[in-house]
Amino acid sequence: MTGWQGKLLRINLGSGLIETELLAEDLLESYPGGCALARKLAQLENISTENNKIIIAAGALNGTGAPAAAFCGIAGYVDDVVCVSLPLHFGAEIKFCGYDVLIIEGKADGWSYILIDEDVKILPIEELADLNPLEIESIIRSAFDQWRASETKIISIGDAEKFSPLLGLVTDGFVVNYTAKLASVFAEKHLKAIALRGIFDLKLARPSEFNQLITEAIKDFRDKQKNFEEKFYNIFQKVNIPLFSRIYANEAEKIACFGCPIACLRKKKEKFLPDFIAIYCLNRMMGINSIQEALSLYDFCTQEGIDPVALGLSARILIELGRSGKFETPPLRAGDKKHILHLLKDKDSLLHKKANLLAKEYEMESEFKELEDSLKRIEKIIFSDIDGYDNKIKVIDALGFCPYILYLFPYELLIEMYQAATGKLLKE
Ligand code: SF4
Repeated sequence: MTGWQGKLLRINLGSGLIETELLAEDLLESYPGGCALARKLAQLENISTENNKIIIAAGALNGTGAPAAAFCGIAGYVDDVVCVSLPLHFGAEIKFCGYDVLIIEGKADGWSYILIDEDVKILPIEELADLNPLEIESIIRSAFDQWRASETKIISIGDAEKFSPLLGLVTDGFVVNYTAKLASVFAEKHLKAIALRGIFDLKLARPSEFNQLITEAIKDFRDKQKNFEEKFYNIFQKVNIPLFSRIYANEAEKIACFGCPIACLRKKKEKFLPDFIAIYCLNRMMGINSIQEALSLYDFCTQEGIDPVALGLSARILIELGRSGKFETPPLRAGDKKHILHLLKDKDSLLHKKANLLAKEYEMESEFKELEDSLKRIEKIIFSDIDGYDNKIKVIDALGFCPYILYLFPYELLIEMYQAATGKLLKE
């Protein structure tokens, strides 16, 4: 097989059984990767509350060096199958470990983490269960020399006892939006982290054609880069989050996901700055207008591994509850960062209830739905200039590309890259 590794790694945390299985070529042709493949496997594996599994599927072009082909899909079951695209390096590293898919099933007796490098191991980590994701990453990496430590890619969760259900997944220091449900599946399995370091190459079907396509794409990118950056900022002005431009105008280190020439992520003093959706949650949902306060709350989220979307939804429901007059003293006022931090540290506070349950309990379901819809509208606005975005994004996701790539390269070019890498025509 070319482009893919053609293998699935199955790890049972309960029995300790670790098996490698072959992936059918037919399946990969129809569901090349990312959430498309993870969802299909969730269906084939019949995952449910009783038979929950974590399914991580690399995008078809992860690890090939195709520009911005960095996203993999991670799925689990919480009321239904949920799947979220994960940025940075994890998808590529799955390929370098020799697999396209990881399936994690069963439940460990005590807190554990999975290490995949030359070997696959399930390692107990019971005494470290309350550590935050940055501490866990640093402990896992401290077992290796500097080079190997930097090559190791990690997904982890924070202290589930203290912060669930607001916890999200953190990958290499970056807290991923919308991952609170998946973090709860990690917690129910007593899985604290997955660490990968791969040593395998990827074979491509037509390597010289593929390299030619990449070279032209990158050359083209250099010509378009300035225009793109202006456009990028304009999009965010369009959705009226002035805080975004102000945070990004700050001097900060540019960070790129695997093979991405755009490098839209930012770090300052070794810590990630909030991305667009996180800023939307801090600014528009929680009402925080000061850059300093937004950044300090986001730092707390990063450090403890709190999903900014889950926090934004819960905080906003509390703010609306205060406005509705259902409480004598409002449980939270818009923009009150100090109070949010105080509620976050008190695990019995209303903020720690799931936003949807809170909304149900206080008859605010329509407000909750409107909040969820507002997040979806943002994505639509960002990509409103892309013709046929709703259909293209499904393909882009299966191939492992970041959606922003659609602003830079013709969709057809991305399909050509897929064909040169795998030697397959893209099925409908
Ligand atoms: S555009 Fe940003 S989020 Fe997308 S792959 Fe590049 S660095 Fe990652």
